Amino acid sequence: MKPFLKRAYAEIHLDRARRNIEKLKTLLKGDAQLMAVVKANAYGHDDKTMSVLFQSMGINNFAVSNIHEAENLRRYGINGDILILGYTSPEYAGELSENNIISSVVSVAHAKALSDAANSPVRVHIKLDTGMGRIGLRNDTPKETADEIAQIISLPNIVVEGIFTHFSVADGTTDEDDEYTLRQRDFILDTDKELRNMGISIPKLHFSNSAGGTYYSDERSAFSRFGIMMYGCAPNSAKPLPFELEPVMELKAEVSHIKTIQKGDCVSYGRTFIADRDMKVATVTIGYADGYSRLLSGKASALVCGKRVPVIGRVCMDQLMLDVTGVDVSVGDIATMFGCDGNERITADELADLYGTISYEIVCNISMRVPRVIIDGDEITDVIEYHY
Ligand SMILES: *Cc1c(COP(=O)(O)O)cnc(C)c1O
Repeated sequence: MKPFLKRAYAEIHLDRARRNIEKLKTLLKGDAQLMAVVKANAYGHDDKTMSVLFQSMGINNFAVSNIHEAENLRRYGINGDILILGYTSPEYAGELSENNIISSVVSVAHAKALSDAANSPVRVHIKLDTGMGRIGLRNDTPKETADEIAQIISLPNIVVEGIFTHFSVADGTTDEDDEYTLRQRDFILDTDKELRNMGISIPKLHFSNSAGGTYYSDERSAFSRFGIMMYGCAPNSAKPLPFELEPVMELKAEVSHIKTIQKGDCVSYGRTFIADRDMKVATVTIGYADGYSRLLSGKASALVCGKRVPVIGRVCMDQLMLDVTGVDVSVGDIATMFGCDGNERITADELADLYGTISYEIVCNISMRVPRVIIDGDEITDVIEYHY
């Protein structure tokens, strides 16, 4: 295994991802398939590693956010279907057909522009906005939406293979959330009924994200588009899952310096931390430029030698400090910013809660400066260093 800079690194545990996938498959009903969402560098987990793993597990449907991510998957040897969930500008119509990538269509005008720009047929799934309020055909009635879909189907260079929608509160906890989700679901199902009445049958209809596929699993959705749960985090940390998932990523960094400071001494920018006693302080080589947010300053903990220790003072760009009083730590030891050390564990959800975000943002934000160390069981199988 090639040596890598241990300053700050993210471990990516393949065996855990595999076990997560096996559990997610048990949620699928009827002929529903798992669509692996690998946008944003597979939520920070390295899209090449993850998509190749998923393909080796028999997954043939992938989703990304844009044409560059889609083309990257083709470069990695992914030969299944790749759906771009977001908007693709018609100027990329050629790239779409060349790489056999499925585009979303967000409006009738978008479909027309894609058709006009294309020299060969473009495969599409039509997005319906049933309540997310982001992209997609948006109408008061399923009939109007069905009429728009019929218009899109008649375009010369557009091959409509699917219609889909996205839930906004499938991870919600109130009765209103539940009713909202069911209304979203019924809108797309009723649109499909209208289409059938018009003699139109669309091969794939899908509406489930992780939360949908978990709390509203439905064989009428051809795909459960699982993202966050494959990576071992919950869509909503406050809503229980039917089984435990294993976080795939752990974030670690090296202890670079240890010192004792006296009561009254300050640590880091702004003198926000003033020691109320003599203490031992460790400096760790990770900071906000690595994606460890400055909003965690003075709030978060890390794990050192199996013990939970507080982050003190402001998180700097490349370094931060920990109160390691009473911990037998040495320079060169590894601090776990999230993950496991001995019996202690810090989750991405715990960090997210500390500054009002979600685990998704914690893992997505781990920057390109941080090498991904790929681990299968006990063995390092690869180290991905990004050239940024
Ligand atoms: C990101 C995304 C998903 C995956 O969402 P998770 O909550 O991570 O499962 C599914 N569908 C669409 C349209 C998305 O944008």
